[in-house]
Amino acid sequence: MNILVLNCGSSSVKYQLIDVDKKIFLAKGSVDRVGMSGAVLTNQRADGDEIKITGDILDHTIAIEYILAVLLSKNHGVISSKGEIHAVGHRVVHGAETFSGSVLITDEVIKGIRDNFEIAPLHNPHNLRGINACQTHLPNIPQVGVFDTAFHHEIPAYAYVYGIPYSFYTQHKIRRYGFHGSSHAFVAIRASELLKKDIKKLKLITCHLGNGCSITAIDKGISIDTSMGFTPLEGLLMGTRSGDVDPSVILYVMAKEGLNYSEANTLLNKHSGLQGISGVSSDMREVITEMNEGNKKAKLAFDVFCYRIKKYIGAYVAALGGLDALVFTGGIGENSPDVRKAVCENMEYLGIDIDKTANSSKEKEKPIHTSKSQASVFVIPTNEELMIAMETKEVVKTLKKK
Ligand code: ADP
Repeated sequence: MNILVLNCGSSSVKYQLIDVDKKIFLAKGSVDRVGMSGAVLTNQRADGDEIKITGDILDHTIAIEYILAVLLSKNHGVISSKGEIHAVGHRVVHGAETFSGSVLITDEVIKGIRDNFEIAPLHNPHNLRGINACQTHLPNIPQVGVFDTAFHHEIPAYAYVYGIPYSFYTQHKIRRYGFHGSSHAFVAIRASELLKKDIKKLKLITCHLGNGCSITAIDKGISIDTSMGFTPLEGLLMGTRSGDVDPSVILYVMAKEGLNYSEANTLLNKHSGLQGISGVSSDMREVITEMNEGNKKAKLAFDVFCYRIKKYIGAYVAALGGLDALVFTGGIGENSPDVRKAVCENMEYLGIDIDKTANSSKEKEKPIHTSKSQASVFVIPTNEELMIAMETKEVVKTLKKK
């Protein structure tokens, strides 16, 4: 079964055409600068063929038209008719409490996604544009919405309620939702496969460390707590996002510097994190390079980043009442032995002990714990697109049974 996975942002559309039964991609790419001058589609085929196409890609509907054209093209394509796309899986960022799992897109589902525009103004409207575009170009093909938040929908109330008046939850839907659900779910399933144990018997902590970072406690396959909250700003330090901050700091800075809502929002989301502390970059590679050259602020940013992950691991071991495996994923989690080493240092008392050689090996997927370590520690490359394709397949399968 071939599934087209789409991730539509404000000015970009990322896509992969996946053969979900073989768990391989046939083609993948992105359209960047949608709606701007110099829009460009980059397509990569599994055999290495790559092409860039520029054009007037004014909106998401035209972007999808370009993507379908390249997938169908004689020289660079991978399919010969639209009928070879059996379903479309859409990444939808915010499902709030409306969606607890992946769903077939219907008018009612579209209304639900729209109802959540208010709490996810930066994501849901663009995700919906992608859905509408596919309804135009692939009208007879089932479409499925896969929500970033859905994996976290069973988090208990004591972990999702904030310490503010309860009416803010009931009236304005303010609570912890959590994000990166497809990534945490994917690596958790893979960890259970590597351990050859039923996920229902495991206590796992998964660290997704990319530009955005989040950490999740998973008990018996269910997310019981996660570091991102009402929005993807809470929790770990990120590339440009602050993560946890005393809320009074924001009020104080707004008053002191005369910042309005939008300026404060930009400060916390775009000018904070690794970038804000180091003054060097939001990119962990550059932060590490500068740190190794003696830049003290880069070292501080690195230390804050790793310390906070360590602190959350401690909290989540307590929340889980034990730990079978710790997983690192995302661009930093997969590629930085320095971060993994700093995070896991002096954690033997929690059952976490990593091996220096294994941690620095070039393998992409690997166990990195010593034989003394009570918990396993894995590096597992994430594959959110494959997870979305697998979810889409499950939803489409239930349709066929009906
Ligand atoms: P996104 O969250 O946008 O998908 P990624 O998961 O690709 O991002 O992660 C991007 C982050 O991964 C950047 O901070 C980048 O510096 C970091 N990264 C990639 N390779 C390495 C590496 N070899 N060492 C340290 N950090 C790395």
